[in-house]
Amino acid sequence: MSALGDQIKAALAANGAITVERFMQLALADPQYGYYMTRDPFGTNGDFTTAPEISQMFGELIGLWAAEVWTSIGRPNPVRLIELGPGRGTLMSDALRAARIVPEFRAALDVTLIETSPPLAQMQYDALLTAGAPIAWKATFAEAPEGPAIVIGNEFLDALPVRQFERCGGDWRERVVRLDSAGELAFGVADKPEPYLNAEADEGAVIEVSGVAHRFMFELAARLARQGGAALFLDYGRSVTGVGDTLQALRAHRQVGPLTDPGDCDLTAHVDFAAMARSARAAGAAVHGPIDQGDFLRALGIDVRARALAERSPERAKEFEAARRRLVGKSENEMGALFKAMTVANRAVPAPPGFQPSPAKPA
Ligand code: SAH
Repeated sequence: MSALGDQIKAALAANGAITVERFMQLALADPQYGYYMTRDPFGTNGDFTTAPEISQMFGELIGLWAAEVWTSIGRPNPVRLIELGPGRGTLMSDALRAARIVPEFRAALDVTLIETSPPLAQMQYDALLTAGAPIAWKATFAEAPEGPAIVIGNEFLDALPVRQFERCGGDWRERVVRLDSAGELAFGVADKPEPYLNAEADEGAVIEVSGVAHRFMFELAARLARQGGAALFLDYGRSVTGVGDTLQALRAHRQVGPLTDPGDCDLTAHVDFAAMARSARAAGAAVHGPIDQGDFLRALGIDVRARALAERSPERAKEFEAARRRLVGKSENEMGALFKAMTVANRAVPAPPGFQPSPAKPA
């Protein structure tokens, strides 16, 4: 068992159970042993790969998306470009490079990276040293400077902890982590039901609610409604709120049980985009999407970009085509349909690139 696992077991032996939400928070963000606090989780030697790590095209297209949004909101100067959970800094680095073709946008940019992990903040610093834009780091979104903003979050929302409730004998009970009779970590349910939940579901069904994500979304949407701008979220998730336990852990690109070695495996839950959209609208913002990541990237021109890169470096043509397929393809091992894109924006912002109704297809 991981060091954090032993620590959690000792706490459970003394105090009983903790909620799934608390477990997820400890596993990812415990200051000493939390998964993101101690390592670089990405790439072939890590535990999982994200879209910006698959191809430069992803960050480039998002950089151009940001430049177009900036134009559509009246070219504010300065404009805050804020990235949530920037990982290795790859997306921002590719985005800033691509945005050079709109020099006025580049000149107006003031970049803030929201990151809780010290080792990842260091990697971002190294990756962006020569990016040529003013960049500041903050631990929370609330600390980002005020004003019109363009916000990007790729695989950020899925790292926020969820609460789970299980249908038991006609009641809903919060799911917890406890010790089983052998002293191992196990799922259980709270002793008391949650009387305010009255959805119908089959015995054993699980529903998930991320209070942390809802509070964040409300704060973000209220800010965009007051100060202008738009936020783009891309994540593994669902477009319709439904029943189901989506907690999943990954180690070395393989799925493992969610209670395996806390702090040593990535732990995520699918993003409930419909729920996020409800919070964003309730806070006064408009919502565009969610749409499939594949459709979004194609509308932004990924096919043309992949061909241009292949023409410039023919020896890498296969690599560009494989990356393009992985990002937009809609089969099981590809990201195009599993991942969704959604924009939350000030109501005055026109439908951003990728979310506009598509022109009629030629016959
Ligand atoms: N966007 C990157 C990384 C995704 S992984 C990419 O696509 O490659 C999740 C990122 O969010 C990591 O950088 C992690 O350290 C950060 N993170 C997780 N929880 C966070 C929180 N509550 N506040 C800020 N950053 C967080």
